[in-house]
Amino acid sequence: MRRDIVVGDASCFGCPVACGKRSYVASEKYGPMRIEGPEFETIGLLGPNCGVGDWEHIVRATQICDDYGFDTMNAGGCVALAMECFEKGIIGLNMDEDSLNSAAERIINLERLYNSRLGVSRKDDTLPQRFLKESMIKGNSAGETIELDPMLDEYYDIMGWSKDGLPPEEKNSHGPSYGKRQS
Ligand code: SF4
Repeated sequence: MRRDIVVGDASCFGCPVACGKRSYVASEKYGPMRIEGPEFETIGLLGPNCGVGDWEHIVRATQICDDYGFDTMNAGGCVALAMECFEKGIIGLNMDEDSLNSAAERIINLERLYNSRLGVSRKDDTLPQRFLKESMIKGNSAGETIELDPMLDEYYDIMGWSKDGLPPEEKNSHGPSYGKRQS
């Protein structure tokens, strides 16, 4: 790894061990890729665990996980499980991109409706007070805090939810009945 892709070490503040790595791969398919890592668990689970043996694809898979906020180890484990299930004919879901996205939306709405029964709503979609009240002291965002309300409005709008962050009843109509929402 050090010979093939590592361009430097990375460390937590003040640690002399510097166990982290910074890597670079120039890929014809994906272009130049720079990442911190990959860590050994990431390499194992996104790599040989999924039958992948080249840096180009391991690093690209790591980038995708990082971009979407997925844990690389869990992602590698899930992909490997899906691959094995497919090989053994255990799952035969015939889903195109639209039906997969629709299923994902139903899952998010179901979670939201369940949580609404427990009293969760817009007031709970928040961030640590420090992010909201203490402005940045330097850099391009100096003097700014996070304006949460417009972000919530935009997200709820994209999801088709109410201003209070609740899915409408008709969101139930494309899949199993989720039960009544709590307003
Ligand atoms: S050993 Fe690695 S993870 Fe632990 S503090 Fe040092 S740099 Fe950070």
